[in-house]
Order: sequence, then C-alpha cells, then structure tokens
Amino acid sequence: MSSDAKCNRVGDDTFVAVNELAKRRGFFWSSFEIYGGSGGFVTYGPLGARLKQNIETKLREVMVKKIGIYEIESSVIVPGKIFEASGHVAHFKEPMVECQNCHTRFRADHLLEEKGISSAEAEKMSLEEVKVELQRHNIICPDCKGAFGEPTRYLTMFETTIGPYAGSVGYGRPEAAQNIFVEFNRLYNVARERLPFGCINIGKALRNEISPRQGLIRLREFTIADLEFFFDPEEPTCDRIGEVENEVLPILLGDTRLKDCEDITNFTVREALDKGIIRSEWQAYFMAQAKLLLIELGVPSDNQRFIEKLTWEKAHYSSQSFDQEVLVNRWGWVEVSGHAYRTDYDLTCHMKASGADMTVYKEYANPVETEALIVKPIMSKLGPVYKDEAGKVAAALTKVPAQQVADALAKTGSIIVEGYQIFKEQVDVCKQKTTVRGKRFVPHVVEPSFGCDRLFYVALEYAYSLNDDRIVLKFPRSIAPIQIGVYPLMSKDGLDTKAKEIQRVLSCEGFMTDFDEAGSIGRRYARADEAGIPIGITIDHDTLSEETVTIRDRNTWKQIRVVVKDLPNLLHKYFEGKADFEELGQIIP
Ligand code: AMP
Repeated sequence: MSSDAKCNRVGDDTFVAVNELAKRRGFFWSSFEIYGGSGGFVTYGPLGARLKQNIETKLREVMVKKIGIYEIESSVIVPGKIFEASGHVAHFKEPMVECQNCHTRFRADHLLEEKGISSAEAEKMSLEEVKVELQRHNIICPDCKGAFGEPTRYLTMFETTIGPYAGSVGYGRPEAAQNIFVEFNRLYNVARERLPFGCINIGKALRNEISPRQGLIRLREFTIADLEFFFDPEEPTCDRIGEVENEVLPILLGDTRLKDCEDITNFTVREALDKGIIRSEWQAYFMAQAKLLLIELGVPSDNQRFIEKLTWEKAHYSSQSFDQEVLVNRWGWVEVSGHAYRTDYDLTCHMKASGADMTVYKEYANPVETEALIVKPIMSKLGPVYKDEAGKVAAALTKVPAQQVADALAKTGSIIVEGYQIFKEQVDVCKQKTTVRGKRFVPHVVEPSFGCDRLFYVALEYAYSLNDDRIVLKFPRSIAPIQIGVYPLMSKDGLDTKAKEIQRVLSCEGFMTDFDEAGSIGRRYARADEAGIPIGITIDHDTLSEETVTIRDRNTWKQIRVVVKDLPNLLHKYFEGKADFEELGQIIP
C-alpha cells in the first residue's frame, strides 16, 4: 500500500477480519466447501445476496436511470465466432508459469509485481523478457520452492462446445459488452434510429483466472456491468456534462506514471476536457458518475483515483482508458471499474466478420453538392468487339474506381480489367454533379465497465469499523441489506406479539426488516451492528401502555423515543435521506 494511504483502516488485518465476518454472518464464503472448495467461486449468503442486489440497484440509479440507458439481459455462453471477431481469442491471454515440481500454475506478471516490478512494466514484457526477469529475481514456486518452466500465454476464456458438436466452439463470456455490440441493429431500432443512446448488460462473466487468491477481487465467475454508449463521433457533445462539470476527478496521469511517480492530479471534469486529458465528453461524464457511485457506496473521494492506462496496458479495443481504483487494506489500489473509449472498433469487427451492415445513416442539415468522376462504358463500341461478353466487360469496368480508370487510359490508352483490354474510345470518363444528402458511418462507443463483486467488497471493507472493540458495519443507509431490526425486550407479556405487529406494518411499508428475540437486548444490538442494520426498534412495557418505542442508531448507539404510529413516516424520511437520526426526535440522554 502506498504511504499516503487514507483508508479508514482498522489495522493491517482488515482483509482477514472482513472475510472472517463475511463468512460468519453469511455475507459470502468460498463455494463448494464440503468438497474442499474450488478457487475463484463464491456463494453470497442471505445478507450478501441482498447487499449485492442493493449495490446493483444503486448502480442502476446512478449510471442507468438518470439518463435513460437501456438494459438487456443476454446469454453467458457465446458462439466462438463472436470472440474471434472481437479479438478476444487472440488477445485475452495472460502470461503463465508452471512449477516443474508441484505443477501449480501462476500468473507470471503477478509474481514479478510481488518483487516490486510495476504492473505497467510487467504487462509490457514479452515471454522472453518475463523469463529473464523471473530468473534475475530468482523467483521460484511460492508453494514448494520448485523451479519454473518456460512462460506461456494462457487463454483465460472458458471454452466449451455448443450442443454435441466438437466443431461448434463456444466461450463463457469474459465480458458482457459483446452481447450488446452484436445486438446493435435491434437496439438502434428500439432507439428509433437516433444517436446517442446507451445500453447496459449486467450479468455473470467467466474468466478462467490462473491463480485467483484475492477473495472477491479475483473470481472465476463474477458479475459484470458493461455499459456501452453509442454516439456520433462528429457530434460528441454530452448534453449532461453541465451537471458534473465541477466534479473533481483525481487522476494519475500516464505521463506521471512513466516517471515512476504516483502523484495524483485533481482536475475538474471541465479542466480534464479542456486540457485534453479525457478525450470524450461522454467518457468524462461517466467517470464523474462512477466517482459519485463509489461515494454512495461508502468510499470517500480521497480513497479513489482514476489511473490512465499506458499504450501497452490498454485492452486491444481501446483508444483511451482509465481505471477507477479504490484503496483497500490488503491489496492497495484495486480497479473497480474500467472506462474505455472503444471507438468504432467492435462494431467494425462484427460488420467484417458477420457481413451485417451496422452503419447508421445521417442526413446532412444542408445537402452537399459534389462533382464526381464517373465511368460510362460505351456499349455501341464494346458490343461489336466483345459480342455476348460485352455486358460482362461493362460490369467489370464499373467496379474499378473511376480515377484508376482515368489514370490508366491517360497513361497507356487502355486498361485491363478481368483479362479484358478496354480502350479509351470504348469508355466515357466524365465529371458528374451529384447532391449528397447524408452519409453512413459506424457509431463510436465509450464504455464504463464495473465489477459488481469488487464494488461489494469495497462497500463491505469501507463499512467495517470498530466501536468500543465491537464490529459495526456502517453501510450507507441506502444499501444496508436489512434496514430495521425489531426487538421485543422480552418474549412474553405480549411484547413479542406487539413487536410482530410493528414489524408487519413496517414490512408492508416496504422496509426490509428483521425480527430478533433471541438473547439479551445487548447481544441482539451487537448482532445487528455486525449485520449493518441501521435502525433498531425496541418494544418494551411502555410500548403497550403508551404506544411508544425506542429507536436506536447503529452508528452512534444513540436512542430516541417515538410514537408507534409515527414510525413509518419518520423511517421513510430517514431512509430516503431527508432526515438524519438526530432529526427524528429527542435523543435520550
Ligand atoms: P476489465 O474488462 O478487465 O476491465 O474488467 C471490468 C471490471 O470487472 C473491472 O473493473 C473489475 O472491477 C471487474 N473484474 C475483472 N476481472 C475480475 C475478476 N477476475 N473477478 C472479479 N472482478 C473482476
């Protein structure tokens, strides 16, 4: 971790503590435990599944709903041709080494990074350079101390066959973006053939990671949220930029990285655009929204940065890329989202490979008068010479660019096309005026791409805190998996019946509630704090006589006495962010 770490760190073992708590309280754990487990797969438990849904809802609120982005849901298994066309089959590879003794395989670049070689350097290396560096640093198998064999490049896509046909190769998608690109024509139609528009695809992505040992950070099956925003490169203005113009983006510039320096420069969105640091207004808009999203998940802006990718680090499809990173306890800066300017790369690839036309038509505001050179075969001259073949000769001639025909005739007096020699007097090459009313072009794309499991992990780590040595998960109230705990002081005297009645009312109001009557009230509060439940409601004997309850704030443990019938109204205000806890009533001294 860099020395300017500003995390709300509890200690060096936060990663271990968070993972331990996650397992104990049912947020998530490694899957298939009873069979010894399998690295890179996790199961989200009852609290975790809800937290993840809330995070994805928040993502939709911030990135999707605000600007009316479409959403699709599509298949995880994708025919091989698509990933051949997109370049993934050729490029989606990582350098790998295998221990010759225990045969464990490792990401070679990660082994080098552990020896202090920057990821930027490691990613640039050829296999030969990787080999030299491994030897130079005497890197041996961390598990058994065996020697490594030759580095190779390993395709990290899961390969399968579609149906019982060996030739019908399919891949588990390593990203959800291609599912959007291949459906572009249909989506454009839904968009009533207008640009710009965007579409998000949130779902499982599969990557056969070589040695996933970072918990939720590196999984073999994870949830990706790929948003593709299509626009006309000649009309790149973002009509929402005004909303985020003054938002500050902390950027680690490529030039700074090349000097082996990690200094962050703060730019407002406007400055970053004016200085050409970010080339696309839409990309800057989404980067600002991504920063706001992370703040809503509990990560202060000081613990976020955008790192500009260097030429050789960028994905094969990207012309400019930034990774949004968050500082975490064990791993330092971790990428939570990627922001790539994919230009027209993907649509062009799919057009070429599928033969489908994915261009869009744009009508000019003012039609353009042009003068073009045209070739007109003179049939009365070609007929007598070529007889039955005259039509074929004429057709072949019109396929040749007019300028090429003109040049050949001017130079040699004839041109040979598909084996036929055609003379100057058999062709009329002339200029013709035409009115061009519009043109076809391939839209450009900017992409924000989030890993939802990483968002989940950072939300959990940033919520993790200690109050008087007790764990409290201080989730922002809008993402807490359970909003309200309901606790009868005792399970008798009608307190439990009254508590259930209150819980029912609150559930019908749409709150996510939990009922807990086991153990002392102190233990129940402690359990609720570990589950990150923002509000606790205690039902006691006065509730029966006075229709009042105590509500407790998870973060400060302060308490307020309120009238039962006011609960829905007060709690709506609180969870909608319209009032803080202290504003709900008089704090009990
Ligand atoms: P990428 O296409 O590699 O930029 O990935 C997009 C996003 O997915 C990243 O910003 C990460 O948040 C997330 N991600 C990538 N690989 C993994 C993985 N193996 N496990 C969990 N999340 C991942």
